[in-house]
Amino acid sequence: MNKFFKEHLTVASNASGRKMNVPIYRFKGQEPGPKVYIQSSIHGAEVQGNVVIYHLIEYLKSTPIRGEVVLVPNCNPVGTNIKSGEYTLGRFDPINGQNWNRGYYFKEELVNDFIDTVTEDVSFDDIKRDFRLWVKQAIEAELNKEWGIGLAPRLNLQLQAQAFDADIVIDLHNGPVATRHIYVPEYAKDSAKYFNIPHVIFIPNQFNGALDEAMFCHWWTLADKLSEKFPQHQWPIPVEAFTLEMGSQEVINFDSGQYDAKGILAYLNYKNCLIDTDIQPENIDRYAVMLKDYKILYTQEGGIVEYNVKPGQHVKKGDVLAKMLNVDDLDNDNAVSYIYAPEDLITILHFPSASVLCGTQLYKCFINYFPLP
Ligand SMILES: [Zn+2]
Repeated sequence: MNKFFKEHLTVASNASGRKMNVPIYRFKGQEPGPKVYIQSSIHGAEVQGNVVIYHLIEYLKSTPIRGEVVLVPNCNPVGTNIKSGEYTLGRFDPINGQNWNRGYYFKEELVNDFIDTVTEDVSFDDIKRDFRLWVKQAIEAELNKEWGIGLAPRLNLQLQAQAFDADIVIDLHNGPVATRHIYVPEYAKDSAKYFNIPHVIFIPNQFNGALDEAMFCHWWTLADKLSEKFPQHQWPIPVEAFTLEMGSQEVINFDSGQYDAKGILAYLNYKNCLIDTDIQPENIDRYAVMLKDYKILYTQEGGIVEYNVKPGQHVKKGDVLAKMLNVDDLDNDNAVSYIYAPEDLITILHFPSASVLCGTQLYKCFINYFPLP
């Protein structure tokens, strides 16, 4: 059976000098295989991933694996505990304002410098091992800079140092009010159908600071540059990384968590991580877009909004998405206005509050979507 280890990683310290830790649950199989890293709740209000990890742990207690699975629930103990009234303000580092999922590390120059050290006689396994070490040393140097770094990147980099050993990285999130969706790097599109997630966003090799990008941009860029330097060889991208968005923030649901855990296990089974298991993905309709077609609809005016379309609904151009009440005009014809769909679309998520300012991200939607076979 698997060996199980539990440890704690210090990711921050508070003003009282107390260390703030996250638990790390580690399962090691008896046979060699891929290394998997899964974390949840880097955005403090997005708590459903913790239930998913609970179900994964229950499963891994009795199912033999190949390689290793590392689970880091509630990976942001700062963000989870920042409340204002009824709400968790878990999206931004409260000191510097940075999004908690934008402080991870990637530098193309670092990959270039590494490529300069690679000679043709080195095996791909050795390249992978050396590259991991190379990037982890750079992360370590960043963490130990004499001038210091902000709270969000400090927490992010400590998690990334753990994640960078892995062949498969899964970051568990939720939207504000959302249906299930998943971010998949374009090269890993064949993997999308193994998760039980009906909405898929394919992303290019472009770094914006998130964990999934910080993983796959390194390996994707490495493969591209190896192909340039040694075009006579094939250079695969050996690591896959995903962001899973499993419904709405501020709530947990144990049954949904079990369903999503099964989707992750179906993917891990496809990746040869599980021994003697028949977990398969659900037979569901899946729709995908390229990242450029995942569109934000901003409000043009402020007001109080009734959301007329649920996340996951297919909507025709011109259909009403929302009805807005304007309290300064309740006595005249401008009391009520409508927000229409600019194109045929699928709504994926909407803002959680009825009160909106102008410039609010009201809906995020798929346009130009296509079915995934
Ligand atoms: Zn998130």
